[in-house]
Amino acid sequence: MRADTAIMTQVNDKISTRIDGDIGFICSNNPPVNALGQAVRAGVVEALEALNADPAVKAIVLYCEGRTFFAGADITEFNKPRVPPTIQEMILALENSPKPVIAAIHGTALGGGFETALGCPFRVAIPSAKVGLPEINLGLFAGGGGTQRLPRIIGPEKALEFVLSGKPVSAAQALALGILDAVEEGAPDAIGAAFARRVIDEKLTAVPVSRRDDKIAATRADPSAFDALAAKLTARSKGQEAPAANVASVRRSFTLPFDEAMAIDAEANRALMAGSQSRALRHLFFAEREAARIPGLPEGAKARDVAKAAIIGAGTMGGGIAMCFAGAGIPVAVIDTTQEALDRGMERVRTNYATSVKRGSISQAQMDERLALITPAVDRAAVADADVVIEAVFEDMAVKQEIFADIEKRVKPGTVLASNTSALDVDEIASVLERPGDFVGMHFFSPANVMKLLEVVKAAKTSPEAILTAMAVGRRIGKMPILSGNCDGFIGNRMVAKRSAQAERLLQQGAFPQQVDAALTNLGFPMGPLTTNDMSGLDIGYSIRKRRGTPFPIADAIVESGQLGQKTGSGYYRYEPGDRTPRPNPQTEALILETSKRLGIERRDMSESEMVERLLFPLINEGARIIEEGIALRPSDVDLVWINGYGWPRHLGGPMFHADEAGLPHIVARLRAFAADTPGDPSLQPAALLVELAEKGQGFSEWQKSRAAN
Ligand code: NAD
Repeated sequence: MRADTAIMTQVNDKISTRIDGDIGFICSNNPPVNALGQAVRAGVVEALEALNADPAVKAIVLYCEGRTFFAGADITEFNKPRVPPTIQEMILALENSPKPVIAAIHGTALGGGFETALGCPFRVAIPSAKVGLPEINLGLFAGGGGTQRLPRIIGPEKALEFVLSGKPVSAAQALALGILDAVEEGAPDAIGAAFARRVIDEKLTAVPVSRRDDKIAATRADPSAFDALAAKLTARSKGQEAPAANVASVRRSFTLPFDEAMAIDAEANRALMAGSQSRALRHLFFAEREAARIPGLPEGAKARDVAKAAIIGAGTMGGGIAMCFAGAGIPVAVIDTTQEALDRGMERVRTNYATSVKRGSISQAQMDERLALITPAVDRAAVADADVVIEAVFEDMAVKQEIFADIEKRVKPGTVLASNTSALDVDEIASVLERPGDFVGMHFFSPANVMKLLEVVKAAKTSPEAILTAMAVGRRIGKMPILSGNCDGFIGNRMVAKRSAQAERLLQQGAFPQQVDAALTNLGFPMGPLTTNDMSGLDIGYSIRKRRGTPFPIADAIVESGQLGQKTGSGYYRYEPGDRTPRPNPQTEALILETSKRLGIERRDMSESEMVERLLFPLINEGARIIEEGIALRPSDVDLVWINGYGWPRHLGGPMFHADEAGLPHIVARLRAFAADTPGDPSLQPAALLVELAEKGQGFSEWQKSRAAN
């Protein structure tokens, strides 16, 4: 579209203008993502003044070179003094431009980038573009006017859904919502110019969005539908600040004049930014990027290509894992010993998919496509062309070793051989292999098709390529892979064991199951530890404790009385047939009282805060040991394990983040008190790293930063 007649003027090193006939163009070129840094903002304002001063120009197109329209604020400017113009000031200049401005979008216009487009009276995009306000994911709302202008374009109800989801929408969806005026194929400046032509020729009036009233008037007159929607959409975000703040801000769009709402927004967003919930969510945002980085691997080590997979074992886990591969479009063979076991497994997969179709999360066509990618087989020869084989059979060393020794002979060289074991020693499994470098643990969580966590377990001889392949394929199938060293329980279950021991002790000392669980659900955990145990079946932990000789008097007594949890209708709680609601269980309560008496423990009242500390600090302590032993690469990886596999609420940031917030000296002091109260449990002595950091007045996050810098 750059016609020969156009004269380009460089405003600064990021922003240029040109004029083609009666259309002016403002172009940003700030790789890689056209972040809205100071030079960009100042350049846009200056360019706008220049084009407005030129009598030849009748309309102005704002667009970007490179990968994307403005993708958002410049994160390198966070925590630095603000140099004007601010994003809001730049947006106001666009909105108040005497000549109409057309934002021409490609790539992803997110956050401040999308708010810039909302400041322009007209918006067009190419079909592959996406727009969104993801601020809620960082515990904030779109403070650059997004929550004030979007309702004026699409109405408060649709705006509310948009900001609460935090998910970007496609150009087609944005057009249907009324966010975009047109979607056209072509270069951004060309589609912008075509729309500018219409604006000029058809004399379309450019009403500044902040002065529009047509879409908010109805809600102002009767906000009941808005309020009902807000209640429905935030019903599951108890204790979270950002969803409520988003609702309040959108609400201001129809209850207050624009300028007043903007002033309150600025204050409200500053308060969120300074609060611990947004800090937690921003911590996780960086943690997720960091988790993919594995220091210490030889240069040039690369993940191997994975075009096909095979799963051995069509049980609960195997079927779920196969669904993950099919969902990512990777053909997968599922192998079991008998046709009956395979049929049972495939039936479970089909039922899971059918539920998703019924719920509308996938279409019938997607279900059929995915099922067609899963090939059941009884013959192990089906592993021959797989690039990765994941074993998910019974938790039995001999069975697993037999399988790996056999399939190693059947696969291509370089095929990654993975075990989904939860509790067996991965080195012992790998000891039967001739190429132990290709072996790695891939520990999925139940239900495997849903849970995001994947612990990638490095055995002593696992090669860098096998680690990288497991991590990469994990990400491809939608998981959050976290590298773990080999130890009993790996990262997550090793920490959970410390919480379980405390839950048992709390019951012995005076608490009942509902109090122990409420201590954590009141914090925001979706389920308490004892309800979780009832759901998984109490026999699993019982047999592990028997094997290890580590009795839990109350838990063991419950199992020995024939109560195995939900599957038998009672465990820590009692269940009505066909209902998973946990109800107080008098039989178990009697067992608890009896056991305390038998152990000579005088039961006492416990505050909820004591229970929270008793449940969380010992697991944090184990996390510190896991970090100091190098089992986890970094504290933020431990946080991601808990967020993605164990229900730790995102807005609470994970155990190591929580430790920093609670203060390490306080945790050390409390652990010392617990240890004194429980002689014979050395795991309650504070970990060396915890003590060291507490004495230095540091936290895990500073420790991680200083290590990353070295
Ligand atoms: P499961 O009992 O539901 O399924 C095991 C399947 O393996 C069965 O279909 C069985 O027929 C098949 N099998 C047994 N021996 C076989 C062989 N030699 N060749 C081929 N197939 C064989 O068990 P699950 O719960 O799916 O657990 C499988 C593995 O995953 C175990 O190692 C377990 O520790 C681990 N794991 C389980 C969970 C969980 O919550 N269930 C979570 C993480 C990891």
